[in-house]
Amino acid sequence: MPDRQLPRLRLRDLSHSFGAVRALDGLSFDIAPGEYVTLLGPSGSGKSTTLALIAGFLQQDAGSIEFDARPLHRTPAHRRGIGLVFQAAQLLPHLSVADNIALPLKLRRVGRAERDAAVTRMLDLVALRGFAERASASLSGGQAQRVALARALVFEPRLVLLDEPLGALDRQLRETMQQELRAVQRRLGVSMLHVTHDQAEAMAVSDRMAVIEAGRLRQIGTPREVYENPADGFVASFLGEDNRLPGRVEAIEDDVAFVRLAGGALVEARDAGVLAGGACMVAIRPERLAVMAGAMAADMGDDAVAAVLRESSFRGDHLRLVLDVAGITVVVKRPTVVPLAGLVPGATLALAWQAQHARAVPLAL
Ligand code: ADP
Ligand code: MG
Repeated sequence: MPDRQLPRLRLRDLSHSFGAVRALDGLSFDIAPGEYVTLLGPSGSGKSTTLALIAGFLQQDAGSIEFDARPLHRTPAHRRGIGLVFQAAQLLPHLSVADNIALPLKLRRVGRAERDAAVTRMLDLVALRGFAERASASLSGGQAQRVALARALVFEPRLVLLDEPLGALDRQLRETMQQELRAVQRRLGVSMLHVTHDQAEAMAVSDRMAVIEAGRLRQIGTPREVYENPADGFVASFLGEDNRLPGRVEAIEDDVAFVRLAGGALVEARDAGVLAGGACMVAIRPERLAVMAGAMAADMGDDAVAAVLRESSFRGDHLRLVLDVAGITVVVKRPTVVPLAGLVPGATLALAWQAQHARAVPLAL
């Protein structure tokens, strides 16, 4: 299978400006056949602009887009053969569900019998069997979005672009729809590029996520890679809370940095690009921190990271602790199944972690 290595979509050095606003600034990444990639970034980072260039609604100022190794530059939008789903389902309200789904086939002059068969397949795929004759205007938000997905898939595109497709739905429905999107994508083996500003959504659906900010790619990788090994401080904090303790690197052995924290404790962290003798931050996610109270904390000795509990709040699936470590605020998330006595505000606790779960990063990051 010589084609296996060929990307389905290849973006190279894409730039686009709206007047003086540089929306995209040299964006490059690939999507493999059958891959689900999310484009994750804050509002205004250039996500929709990227999709508009791929779909052909805008022309890039510089850079190239290749679809199955063919440059897309001269192909008009309606010939690109790419499925599209937007935040608003944009169904034609006077048409039935079946007629909305059949629309792309009608535009391609597919015959009636073939159209009907394809619509039936799509209704099954998005769990709307029995809805064919329903008026589109009578659908709930989630149903309308499933119809929009069916319409985007009915002509068997090799690539589907989704721009905040679940943004208008409430949280529970959004989580259900995330699973459905992923299941449909796996079943069809279609490539998807899904735009979202919601990191939890990106992690839930992606094979890989591309994190962008100000029109530039910050990092691309699997959810685990990006979460555990963020390329920089922007990526680290965009993906979730990340504690940072200032210190100085005393030594580096293999890939472990020994860091003297401002409070005096000597701690270990994975070396993420620091220099011996240099100032650094020890970065660590809240769920990777262990807290000890009472005698256990006292037993830790001089190298304990002492912390004072400021507040603790019950969050259902976890307990959230806010601590003060030598003047720095640190957040800890503890599973509620492990009760711990002594979690009262003002209590002195000790923090611990496994070296591989903390990152020693240079100050500038
Ligand atoms: P996102 O989808 O990530 O929120 P966009 O791609 O929509 O971001 O926008 C990127 C930047 O380009 C923003 O600064 C936005 O204000 C600007 N922009 C987008 N569309 C237009 C437009 N039609 N005219 C002028 N500026 C625009
Ligand atoms: Mg947008």
